[in-house]
Amino acid sequence: MKRLEFRSDTMTMPTQAMRDAMRDAPVGDDVCGEDPTVGRLEAMAAEILGKEAALFVPSGTFGNQCAIRTHTKLGDEVIASELSHIVDHEVGAAAAISGVQMRAVRPASCDWLTVDDIAPRIRVSGDIHEPDTGLILLENALALGTVMPIAAMHGVYSLARRHGVPVHLDGARIFNAALALCIAARRIAACADSVQFCLSKGLGAPAGSMLCGSADFIRRARKIRKMMGGGMRQAGVLAAPGIIALTAGVARLHEDHDNARLLARLLSEIPGVSIDPARVQINMVFCRIEKEGKNEQGLVDFLKARNILTYDPSWWGIRFAISREVNVNDVRALASAVAGYME
Ligand SMILES: *Cc1c(COP(=O)(O)O)cnc(C)c1O
Repeated sequence: MKRLEFRSDTMTMPTQAMRDAMRDAPVGDDVCGEDPTVGRLEAMAAEILGKEAALFVPSGTFGNQCAIRTHTKLGDEVIASELSHIVDHEVGAAAAISGVQMRAVRPASCDWLTVDDIAPRIRVSGDIHEPDTGLILLENALALGTVMPIAAMHGVYSLARRHGVPVHLDGARIFNAALALCIAARRIAACADSVQFCLSKGLGAPAGSMLCGSADFIRRARKIRKMMGGGMRQAGVLAAPGIIALTAGVARLHEDHDNARLLARLLSEIPGVSIDPARVQINMVFCRIEKEGKNEQGLVDFLKARNILTYDPSWWGIRFAISREVNVNDVRALASAVAGYME
């Protein structure tokens, strides 16, 4: 029986085209700026996001932390959502690497930080006791499958600019967000000074992320990347599949969103499965089990016994991640297995 992979879009395997590109990529020492394939990937990423320059980094966490270190100085305060990846899933790296104080804020009214959440927390008094607000962090495809609207991003960015505070966007899934908002990714990127996005998730590359920003910012980030141990030598073998991720990977992403919506619809038809289809905006489908004698862990175990994989439930319920690894038939197979459990 085929194993159905709904754990994460990081589980996407490199395509044959990617493996061919890895084998044939022209390479050089990228620390010396001599790898033509890395150079091509960086130029493409900068162009697509409408930024002056880009930097190839080993992971999304690396890109975010390299950005934080580049933007801030020791003791600065960094405003971020309490639910963000940087606060919740990056091992305390901002404290360990950049020596900054995270001002982790729970969004008061929706899934993302609004101007009302951020404005009162920007330090303006000049009081000798207070840390300086060094950076504001945004995330646009959020942990619960929703997307920060572009108007909300504009609002935060103009607030930040009024106070001279830079904005970094953790845009791990920026192309999913752009699809959901029906706009070009560069319009999202225009609401931040720097942007990190992952090649290694739904876009399908085996590894790597891009950090994009102004030429001066990327020049400084390149040195920080070296300090953090991310100067990779013949990295063109990893950049080559990244180029395919940025082209063919982006071009097919809508299939994942279609499959996510299909799954949401099929699940919503099963009695006892609680799901809000309006919140299925990217390639993530969240649901809860609300039926006497049934529970979320029970469902996950039931699916696992049938070779259908998803992570154990968490405070948000069960998450099914859609990627190139699963097709329409797999989505239907998952839905009918869920229906089988709920009988
Ligand atoms: C996955 C992810 C990252 C980090 O990516 P890694 O490559 O796993 O380090 C950062 N932010 C968000 C929102 C993510 O989903």
